[in-house]
Amino acid sequence: MRFNSDQIQKIGKEISSKVDGKTLFDEFSRGRYSTDASVYQIKPLGVVLPKDTNDVLSLMEYSQKNSVPILARGGGSSQCGQTVGESVVLDYSKHQNKILELNVEEKYVWVQPGVVLDHLNAYLKPHGLWFPISSLIISNLLASSLILSPPTLTLKL
Ligand SMILES: Cc1cc2nc3c(=O)[nH]c(=O)nc-3n(C[C@H](O)[C@H](O)[C@H](O)COP(=O)(O)OP(=O)(O)OC[C@H]3O[C@@H](n4cnc5c(N)ncnc54)[C@H](O)[C@@H]3O)c2cc1C
Repeated sequence: MRFNSDQIQKIGKEISSKVDGKTLFDEFSRGRYSTDASVYQIKPLGVVLPKDTNDVLSLMEYSQKNSVPILARGGGSSQCGQTVGESVVLDYSKHQNKILELNVEEKYVWVQPGVVLDHLNAYLKPHGLWFPISSLIISNLLASSLILSPPTLTLKL
């Protein structure tokens, strides 16, 4: 363990004062986020549910200045322990989950990173479109795009 409980409390307080999104640094939440779909189990320092891009930028700045690792998480369905670690976990699934723009003619859609694959495909269905990746339906778009195709948030349908 790199960080003791006093340091974790301090990090929690400092981060809470910098972001608008909810911060979870209590034992229960840290326990909840210590697993994903893998066999690994590592308690994070805490969790932030970023409200918007400013929250993410503030966290990145804090992370760099204080050498505190951060770790993004979508649906937590990856199976090799990618979303567990002694870090501040950014859970994108709570607020960053909106579909921003669909252009049927040009076949592209703008989404936030935490949009769930199944929700996107339900939204596209009336237009006769779908996002053709094969993955778990609860998986989030950015994570899936990072894993399965070049990272971009403009998804070509
Ligand atoms: C039962 C089951 C079936 C599955 N079937 C398939 C399958 O058919 N095909 C397949 O390819 N995979 C499959 N998977 C694996 C997994 O579901 C996919 O890899 C899925 O795309 C991961 O999405 P997620 O939102 O859960 O990502 P997470 O597990 O939350 O994250 C995956 C990675 O992306 C990073 N990440 C997440 N959000 C962001 C962000 N906003 N910014 C930067 N980095 C980010 C994380 O740090 C992590 O490294 C399956 C898993 C399970 C448990």
